[in-house]
Formats: sequence, C-alpha cells, structure tokens
Amino acid sequence: MVKPFIIGTRNAREMLAIGAKILREGGSAMDAVEATIRAVEENPMDTGVGLGGIPNLLGVPQMDASIMDGRTLRTGAVAAVEGYLHPISIARKVLEESPHVLLVGPGAELFAEAIGFERSELLTDMSRTAYRAFVEDTIEGLDERFDERRKEYYAWYIENYRLREWYRKLSDAQQGTVNVMALDGDGDICSGVSTSGTAFKFPGRVGDSPIIGAGNYCDNRVGAAACTGRGELAIRLSTARTIISYMEHGMTVRDACIQAMRDIHALKETGGMNCLAFDRHGNTMSASTRRESIHYYMDIDSEEPEERRGVWVKA
Ligand code: ASP
Repeated sequence: MVKPFIIGTRNAREMLAIGAKILREGGSAMDAVEATIRAVEENPMDTGVGLGGIPNLLGVPQMDASIMDGRTLRTGAVAAVEGYLHPISIARKVLEESPHVLLVGPGAELFAEAIGFERSELLTDMSRTAYRAFVEDTIEGLDERFDERRKEYYAWYIENYRLREWYRKLSDAQQGTVNVMALDGDGDICSGVSTSGTAFKFPGRVGDSPIIGAGNYCDNRVGAAACTGRGELAIRLSTARTIISYMEHGMTVRDACIQAMRDIHALKETGGMNCLAFDRHGNTMSASTRRESIHYYMDIDSEEPEERRGVWVKA
C-alpha cells in the first residue's frame, strides 16, 4: 500500500504542509488538494493564481480552475470567473452539487453566489501596477481618455494583429498556475488546478486549466497529471489525459511526461509547457519544454516539502 502523499508545483511548496496534515489525519485526497490550492489562491504575492493574479486585457482578473476525483472520474470546473477568491472551491461544488462539469463566466458566478460564496476584490496594488505598466507599454497613442476609449484601443490592437504578436512574445514570467495532486489512505487520487491564466489575456480567453483532459486529469487506476504553461498547446494535445493514457499503455510516469513534452515541441509553436504527474505506485515526475523542472513532495511522515527534480525536455 502506498503511503498517502501530495505533490505540487513550486508555488505550492509552502502550502503542501496543509494538505499533508489533512492526509495524515485521515482526510481525503480531495480535501487535501482543495485546502492546499485555497492557500495558494490567498497568497497575494503569487501573480498567477487567485488574489493578485494578473488581470486580463481589460484589467479584470478572470480565473480558471478544475478538480477531478480519480475514483469516480467526476470533475468540476469553472472558467473566466470574476470576483471570487476561491475558484477551486467553486469547481469542487460544480463537481459535488451540480450535474455539470464546467460552468463559465456569469453563469459560474451565479452558481457561486447561489451556493453562498462571498464576492471579493482580487486586484492588489501590485497587479494594478503591472496592468498599468502593460497598458502604457503596449497601447500606442495612449492618453488620459484610455478608460472611456478602451474598446476603440482594443479594436485597433486586434485589427493590427498586435494581440497575436504580443502573445507570441509572452514570457514564462507572465504566466503561472498551481497544480496540486494527492493520493489518500483509501487509495483515492485527486488532482486540482487553479490560475488567473496568462497575464493580460483576451477577455473570455480560457486556458487549459479548467479543461479536463487538457490541463488536468486523474484516474485511480493509473495516476494523475496536470499542466502549466501556454494553455492553448495543452488544449490542442489533451496533454494531461494523454500522459495518463501513455501510462495506461505501459509507459513509466517519467517517459509519459517526456513524451508529452516532445509532443508539445512537435507543434513547433512558441510558448512553453510544463507537466506534473504521478503514477498509482507513488512515483512522481515533472517535465518542462523550457526550463529545469522541479516539483515538491510531502507524504504523511514528511516534516517539510522535498524538492524533486524533473526533466528538461529540449527541442
Ligand atoms: N496554463 C495557464 C493558461 O494557459 C497559464 C499558465 O500556466 O501559465 O491559462
């Protein structure tokens, strides 16, 4: 029997202890994953998730999140949701309370409100400053009438293909997402993802994080996988489900992650991709197309998060 454990991306390092404690006390993988991600969502210094997440092109933070239960293969997700601090918890309610798997925008907000979530302000001084700097840098002919003339500016921006050009140049530093996944004492697996998406994204743009199969997938019989990076690429390749599928068909978790990153390179697109995964025996792995890959691990006997090295899959 595998000792219950939890793993996460770098930005979850400090918070993994929350999930490990839940597992140690006999809690479920889903409780551990949700609580850990909630703590990341509350961290204002993390500009890729929850509070302080960099807003969209109109200056509004729009969140994506998903959670999956590996025993039943039930999932819940929200996309482009505004004004709620804990999209991961709304996603969990979609899984538990609704007959649906994905709610978006105003519908997701209506659902959150109806089940009792409080609205909150997600912009911070830091994310406001980052937005203002972006606007000043990007919008030609910017003047003090910017706020009334946003639509006009954006029409120009799109028309001139600046959006595509800028998106191509987007750096890793302007992205960020949290992946957390756990296996509990009953052998149940859960995986969760939360993000504010790519910085200054087009309003309504949805990344891979809330798309089950793209940015998140788990199955008790196999393991768990999730992604961070240029979401469009993981959507095109169903990266998370593909990693599970590679394992199902006999690859090790390491080889599955490496192959998935090779698949990304084969698209010959700009933008990097990273994945995090484990198999049902407790082997963990991460991989990246762009940088040294590390992830963090804790089990019920760990005193602190253990840094584990993944693979940099070069083109
Ligand atoms: N994958 C996220 C998205 O595309 C962003 C990120 O991980 O940086 O929305």
